[in-house]
Amino acid sequence: MIQDIDTRFDAIQREKGEIPKEIEKLKGDLDLLKRAMEQDLSTLEELKETRRKAERELEEMEPRFKKSKSRLNEVKSNKEYQAILKEIEELKELISQKEEMVIGCMEEIEIQEKECATNNLRWEESQREFQIKEQESSQRMREFDEEVQSLSGRRGELSQQVDQDLLKRYDSLRIHLKGQVVVPVIEFVCQGCHLGIPPQQYNDLIRGDSLQSCHNCNRIIYWGGDEG
Ligand SMILES: [Zn+2]
Repeated sequence: MIQDIDTRFDAIQREKGEIPKEIEKLKGDLDLLKRAMEQDLSTLEELKETRRKAERELEEMEPRFKKSKSRLNEVKSNKEYQAILKEIEELKELISQKEEMVIGCMEEIEIQEKECATNNLRWEESQREFQIKEQESSQRMREFDEEVQSLSGRRGELSQQVDQDLLKRYDSLRIHLKGQVVVPVIEFVCQGCHLGIPPQQYNDLIRGDSLQSCHNCNRIIYWGGDEG
């Protein structure tokens, strides 16, 4: 009975240990998502800056283009005319390159903005999930604490009813051994260490008039019947 309570204590302890790890993992996922979002946002900013720069350059080219065109009317030689024509062609080429760049930027900005919006939705959802998980976890922690308290009470009551020497032995075994301290022996085999016990001791166990412990693992043993 006391052992049942202690087994439950151990289980609670294990589960309580897992809860912070789960929370920590979720937090790590959130941080990753946050970093991805920041990365996408900065990519978006870079695209916008590239677009602004290209637009400024286009604005600056406009007067140069007009000036070259008006100079065409004032030329005196064919050579000069050809030179200005070439200049105008080059400017035209440059302008169309910049315009294409602006259009390309705008398309990428649109894609990137959608990505950021999706990220935001996912972020909000993940945060909601995290908060729910966190609340559930602290609720579970509280329930565990309540259970531990009531188990402690019951253990106290039971402790007063059992043989005090046996309890002492049990408690000191519990400190050194992991898991069950009181185990059955089934068909000569101790279920704690899975090693055999001598036939004489086995007969004593079946008679059940003395307290026995396993010579291999020291656990307190009792006869568990002959069926596995
Ligand atoms: Zn044993």
